[in-house]
Amino acid sequence: MKKPDRSSWKLDTLLVHSTEQDHVTEATGIPTVQPIYASTTYLHSDAETLDYALGGALPSGEQAYAYARQGNPNAHALESILGQAEAGVGAVVFGSGMAAIHAALLAADLAPGSKVLAAQDLYGTTITLLRKIFIPTGVEVVFCDLYGTDAAARIELEQPDVVYVETLSNPLVKLIDLDTIGAAARKVGAVSIVDSTFTTPYLVRPIEHGFDLVVHSTTKYMGGHGDSTGGVVISAKNALLDLLRTYANMLGAMLSPFESHLIMRGLKTLTLRMERQCDNALQVACFLQQHPAVERVHYPGLPGHPQHELATRLLEHGRFGGLLAFELKAQSRAAAFHFMDNLQLCLRAATLGDVFSQVSYPPIASHRNLTESERQSMGITEGCIRLSVGIENVEDIINDLDQALTSR
Ligand SMILES: *Cc1c(COP(=O)(O)O)cnc(C)c1O
Repeated sequence: MKKPDRSSWKLDTLLVHSTEQDHVTEATGIPTVQPIYASTTYLHSDAETLDYALGGALPSGEQAYAYARQGNPNAHALESILGQAEAGVGAVVFGSGMAAIHAALLAADLAPGSKVLAAQDLYGTTITLLRKIFIPTGVEVVFCDLYGTDAAARIELEQPDVVYVETLSNPLVKLIDLDTIGAAARKVGAVSIVDSTFTTPYLVRPIEHGFDLVVHSTTKYMGGHGDSTGGVVISAKNALLDLLRTYANMLGAMLSPFESHLIMRGLKTLTLRMERQCDNALQVACFLQQHPAVERVHYPGLPGHPQHELATRLLEHGRFGGLLAFELKAQSRAAAFHFMDNLQLCLRAATLGDVFSQVSYPPIASHRNLTESERQSMGITEGCIRLSVGIENVEDIINDLDQALTSR
């Protein structure tokens, strides 16, 4: 492209065309961190190259950009890393975890008459998405307990088109046997989708256990700093990846360059954060288990947990995640509020997976749209608290929990 001589331009022209040619080169220095490409549109050297770029790639096979909704360098860099981290053929990033889940379900080719078999303890908004968006189109959704030994038989019996699960359930952190469910789904020809937000590729890579699509809310552990909202779907198959890209573009659900940049920055410390959060969570679980004000602790890292053996087999690094739940002896909402209001370090908030420790109370947060008896049937009592353990010094976390548990 010919470089224009800007010296003759009038102010109105100059202001419009000021940044087009100002690219760094090897001579001026290459930044060590990818710049944020705040550009909605991309220039090419001639019309023929623009034609290729609008098609998505150059004749060389190299990625090319034309319009940011269809793809941008920041989102693309994040997709490359996450696809590799999850052992998939590729990934597509989205503006939120929910947008990613929506696209994953669409890519699974749900049509009137098709059936989704879903674990019953799914993230609340995922349940709402299935009920409000997919069921009205004629899709049948069956929610059932997929944590027991009869899960494979249930899949064979139901013959679903899609199996949808989460690696760890919310809030009781029940673990899905990925090998069994993945194999059973494949046997009946179902597309298998797993939400792996709670485990991250540090603890388990579901594609290696036979899953087709892995989704994450990167808002949680991946970003990790409570400053970005995003989602991703990683695919084990190229055909599904193409559909995901098409839906991301068509629904306008893409991730912005700025959010992509923040998540890329967060990812640099993912394994360090996970190590610390998992180790802290195990110590906190052991502390809570012997506390006189605590009835019960749900954490698969505890040797007495019914799924401890499965967790040891499935999760890597001898670690069990940063999330746990516990039940107060005083099984009431008043006792739970009293405990939460007395915390000084752990935050009362509606997220998880951040560097700070944080508690949530499922009856007013993730499970607020259910009745008390529906919650009871899922094992969620009125004294149940979910704790996302952060990277603080573990003694400070334990001291804070202790003083809040014993305060009058
Ligand atoms: C938060 C969360 C989601 C939704 O993600 P958003 O980024 O908030 O849209 C989905 N699944 C799980 C397990 C989550 O924790």
